[in-house]
Parts: sequence; structure tokens; C-alpha cells
Amino acid sequence: MAKELKDLTKRSENYSQWYNDLVVKADLAEQSAVRGCMVIKPYGYAIWEKMQQELDRMFKETGHQNAYFPLLIPKSFLSREADHVEGFAKECAVVTHYRLKNAEDGSGVVVDPAARLEEELIIRPTSETIIWNTYRNWIHSYRDLPILINQWANVMRWEMRTRMFLRTAEFLWQEGHTAHATEQEAWEEARRMLDIYAEFAEKYMAVPVIKGVKSANERFAGAIETLCIEAMMQDGKALQAGTSHFLGQNFAKAFDVTYVNKNNQPEYVWATSWGVSTRLMGALIMTHSDDNGLVLPPHLAPIQVVIVPIYKNDDQKSVIADAVAPIVKELRAMGVSVKFDDADNKRPGFKFADYELKGVPVRLAIGARDIENGTVEVMRRDTLEKHETSLEGIAQYCKDLLEDIQNNIFKKALDHRASLTRTVDTYEEFKEEIEKGGFILAHWDGTTETEEKIKEETKATIRCIPFEGDKTPGVCMVTGKPSAQRVIFARNY
Ligand code: AMP
Repeated sequence: MAKELKDLTKRSENYSQWYNDLVVKADLAEQSAVRGCMVIKPYGYAIWEKMQQELDRMFKETGHQNAYFPLLIPKSFLSREADHVEGFAKECAVVTHYRLKNAEDGSGVVVDPAARLEEELIIRPTSETIIWNTYRNWIHSYRDLPILINQWANVMRWEMRTRMFLRTAEFLWQEGHTAHATEQEAWEEARRMLDIYAEFAEKYMAVPVIKGVKSANERFAGAIETLCIEAMMQDGKALQAGTSHFLGQNFAKAFDVTYVNKNNQPEYVWATSWGVSTRLMGALIMTHSDDNGLVLPPHLAPIQVVIVPIYKNDDQKSVIADAVAPIVKELRAMGVSVKFDDADNKRPGFKFADYELKGVPVRLAIGARDIENGTVEVMRRDTLEKHETSLEGIAQYCKDLLEDIQNNIFKKALDHRASLTRTVDTYEEFKEEIEKGGFILAHWDGTTETEEKIKEETKATIRCIPFEGDKTPGVCMVTGKPSAQRVIFARNY
């Protein structure tokens, strides 16, 4: 067994340590010299690239275009929208100078006090302000609308408690920023993008999500409403996997962005913004992986099928290579990414353990005797089951197996979520149940005060007011006041 695998902490021993170990040992990312900022390694980045490709395609299919805005934002822009500055000020990195100089005592370089910026700049924590300042020049008439723009970028939020992928100070994301003539159009856009996120999470990541609205407390700073998708990790904690904001006319008013409508009247523009980040990598890892390493959904795995030859000498090696070549070709023609690992410097057992750790969905092992018999050994990563099958039609077999794995891990995650979702009616029961983890459906009176009391006493927050499910009104489990519907409580990442 490969050393890395032996060192992986078990989920049951320490889930959090298991996660950190896995990120490093599966070669996804590592800590950097800068607090809260990680290095995303090639294998991790390859998964992120697959996520980007699919999302980008979905955005473009719904009429969005990519553009790019500056990393630095004038500090004054942030304060134009009162709630926005309130929410982001406490985690902003600020650029104050533009030059260093040699220290007089020879101790290295220091900031040159003579090079102080007249207006300080902030590193974008999100780009609404710089974008809406730009939209003022782009939007004049109803004919200029809608604007449907997405940006792939890095952002910086000075987070105090960080964890690789899930919460970092610098993270990669996409941020959509759209401008519309009417309130209804903006609402439809916010909903459409939430649906796209949910579809991506479920069909590609195989992560089941619940769509809903955030409570006022958890709302994006500057939004009228925040919609979200929430996922449940294996330890029963919730993870906010994506958000889509209906911004109303808040940013149009702050940056004076108006358009002349069909009746020749000026009106403020309506807005949305929406984003998912490298946090999705964390969601992917935490949802499916096990004590042997990563389990990747086939739809996002950089290598979907690996073929490992088992040989004793060069003759056998070349016989196997000849038999494998057409299989590789056929798989590639079917759009399956396949690797034939004939490297001599690692033994098959080492390769097996390594591909298991890296979450490659399907492994084929093929020896000289297999070629004679027309068979191959297949291992599926999700269940770790091994069996022998015929070499005849193996490409189609792998293709079907990949779909089966994709469906199986989604179903497993869905069943897990169902098994950890309960309904409770009293606060006493809630306090007991929340200790066991999972999602708790309970009635709440709709006030921030009650939500904060619950958070303080139980560390649980309202993950969302779900769109689907039981809509029966009731009474708040804490105050007994009327409640419109049950909401989802959980402890979260
Ligand atoms: P927001 O702009 O706050 O709505 O966040 C947009 C997306 O980025 C959401 O999907 C968040 O889950 C994600 N996100 C927020 N903060 C972080 C962070 N520190 N690290 C990684 N992802 C984040």
C-alpha cells in the first residue's frame, strides 16, 4: 500500500483532519507562505477547470458573455452602498502605497512613505461596485438592456478562520453581474442562475442541493434577497454551495445608473449578481470521498478510466500495449478521458493505491493471461468492487459503468441527506437533535432576533427557507409566534 494512503486519517476518527489530509495527499492543494491563501496543484486545478468548462458552457447557453474588470477598486466606491460597505469593510485588504525603498539601516525594503496613494484601493472582495460604476457609461436606453455578463476572477476576503477550498482569504470564482429594465426580468434571472447552479451541482458534481432563500441575517450585503443552494456534507454539516442575488435597484441608485424607458422616462436599472467559487471543490471532496481517498464523480474526473498493465517482461508489456491501444482509441472517440499507465518506475500495487487515492472512477488491470483469455479486471472506485469482464466491448462497458457510478454516488449522497434530515416541533427536541448533525426542519417566527438566539445557544443557523417541501404554517419552536413554513437549520462550514 502506498505510504500516503496509510497516513490518511479515518473519517470516523477526525473528519476535519481527514479532509485536510486528503486535500494534501491527493495532490489537490497545499498551504502557501501567505496566511489563508492556498496553492492549487495541477490535479486540483484540473478538476476546477472541468467545473469551469461546464459552468461556462451553461452560462453561455443562457446568453451570458465573459468580460474582465480590475482587481483594485477605489475605496470610496465601497461606501456608496450602505449595506455593502457594512458587510465587506471588516474583511477588506487595502492597498495604500505603490513603492518600496531600501531601509536606511540596511535591513531590507520598507514602504516608501512618499509613495502614498491619494485614494487608497481595495482588493475586490466582490465586484458589484466597480462594475456598476462602469455600467453607468454603458446603459442609456432600454435598448442597451439587458446586460448579461460573467467574470472569472480571484477575489480576496480577509477571512479569520480558513480551510483549504472551503474558506480561503483569496479564492477563485465566477461572478455574474446582470442589468435589466424591469424588476420581473431581474427576478427571473436570479432564479434562472440558481437553477443552473443546482443543475450543475446535481448532474456534474453529483451533490444533491436544496434551493431556497436566505434569511435576512445571512443575506448578501447589498441584496434585497439572496437565493442559495445548500448541500449536506458526510458529517451532517451544511455547506452553502452557491448564491444568486436579487439586488433590486440598490447598486443602480448608488452609482446613478438609469435608462430611458419606452415612454421616454428615466428609470433606475434592476440588477442581479451570482457566484460560485473554489468552495465547490470542498463540497465535491467532502460529499463523496472515503477512507481510501477521493471519490470523483465521473462527469468531473480529469482521468475517468485508468488502464494498468501487469507484466513480467518486455514481451508481455508490448503484447498488452498492442491490445490496449485500440481500446484507448475507442474510449477517446467516445469522449472518455483515459490514461494508459505503463510507467516502469512504479509497481502495479503502488499505482492501484495512487489512483484510488486520486479518485479515478474506473480502473482496468490487464495482464498477459487476460489477453489470452480475452478478459480484463475492472475496479469501480465508488464501491471498490472488483470483477472480471470480457475485453470484447470493454469501451462501451466502461462508458456505461461511468454513468452508473455517477448515478450511484448521487443516490448515495441523496440517501445520506434523507437519513440526516428530521422534523422537530419543540426547542428542547431541537437542541438534542442538532447535536447529532444534519438538517432540521423547524418553524421559526421570521425574526433576526430569534435566529440569533438559536445560533448563540446551539451554533445552528438557518441554511435556507426552502422553495420546495412542506409549506404548512405553524408556530415558532422558540417564541410560539406564527411561522409561515418550516425552514432548514444546521451547523455549517
Ligand atoms: P457571496 O458573494 O458572498 O454570495 O459568495 C459567492 C460564492 O462564493 C458563494 O457560493 C460562497 O459560498 C463562496 N464564498 C464566499 N466566501 C468564500 C471564501 N472565503 N472562500 C471560498 N468561497 C467563498
